Amino acid sequence: MVSEISLKHIGKRYPNGVKAVNNVSVDIADGEFVVLLGPSGCGKSTILMMLSGLEEISEGDLLIDGVRVNEMTPKERDIGLVFQSYALLPNMNVYDNIGFGLTIRKTPKREKDEKIRETARMLGLEDLLDRKPKQLSGGQKQRVAIGRCIVREPKVCLFDEPLSNLDAKLRVQMRKELIRLHKRLNATIVYVTHDQVEAMTMATKIVLLKEGEVQQIGTPEEVFQRPANLYAAEFIGSPKINIFPAVFQDSAGGGVLTLEDGAALPVPPVQAERLRQGGWSHQPLLLGIRPDRISPNKGPAGAAAIHGEIKLVEMMGTEKYIYFQYGSQTVTAKTTEEGYNFDSHTSFLINPAGLVLFSPETGQRIDV
Ligand code: ADP
Repeated sequence: MVSEISLKHIGKRYPNGVKAVNNVSVDIADGEFVVLLGPSGCGKSTILMMLSGLEEISEGDLLIDGVRVNEMTPKERDIGLVFQSYALLPNMNVYDNIGFGLTIRKTPKREKDEKIRETARMLGLEDLLDRKPKQLSGGQKQRVAIGRCIVREPKVCLFDEPLSNLDAKLRVQMRKELIRLHKRLNATIVYVTHDQVEAMTMATKIVLLKEGEVQQIGTPEEVFQRPANLYAAEFIGSPKINIFPAVFQDSAGGGVLTLEDGAALPVPPVQAERLRQGGWSHQPLLLGIRPDRISPNKGPAGAAAIHGEIKLVEMMGTEKYIYFQYGSQTVTAKTTEEGYNFDSHTSFLINPAGLVLFSPETGQRIDV
């Protein structure tokens, strides 16, 4: 079944006066895996609750397949919900937990049995159908909760931080399972998390939120490569992007970005021209450089050298995160290079490829 969901200028004011969500507009196409991403308290769960029908919508319209559903009950909307706490019924076994929604809907016994078994097969739960929730691991409980949602084939499945109670290893495994499941079922999923790694690995579309407002909507690639503003740039990516105050110095046939200590990063002619046209000549701006573009040794032609004292090196396996003091700020470099003495190293090269620029006044990305 094709289902499209459209949030149009959705807002939420709780009875105590808290404005939790403001003017959120998102289109969710059939089969998308949309992740609502942001820190705690930014309104993610509130949006999910308004989608499900468990929380009243204060402003705007919610459309499912073009029909306004603001006043419809959760059941009428045909939306499945998977909570962080799984909400499995403790006295029922896996079979009955998965089939619960079908029982409530009085689905004929034979059809119900087929659907439960098919769902259990898909989730690798066939051998656990007789078990009670307390006899299951966290990951298995999680799969039962997902099974309970998808068995009814709802128009959309909503997930509220479903992996946050799992240990790190299981979380990685469940992430892969969810991606596989989504591909196989082609289900529409709206998924809430504060974890940018979950968003980056699973989403077809990220909706990044801050204080109840949308900051950016895009594919993981878009949000990472072309963050709409400083907030998006700093929220996505690990380790965090480095932000340097810089000044754009215009010159014939190009220009440079001059950093605090005078280091000059060449700007390719096309970008330099755009900056010039945008009125940025000799203006201060903020330069964003991801840690993997800063290297202790190697750099392409045109890389700018900066100098600083190494404060900390984190060994991550093949990769190392190097934190060094550069003027008043700590800069992070991510490298796989080996064979030099970290303690005495002071010179780093900035690769200008992939740099992003922001307006210091508005925090918005400057399109170059
Ligand atoms: P998130 O899911 O991103 O952590 P929430 O949607 O739970 O954020 O909360 C958004 C804001 O709304 C927060 O400031 C929170 O304190 C507030 N809030 C959430 N639920 C209620 C409620 N029932 N009554 C009043 N304020 C609420």
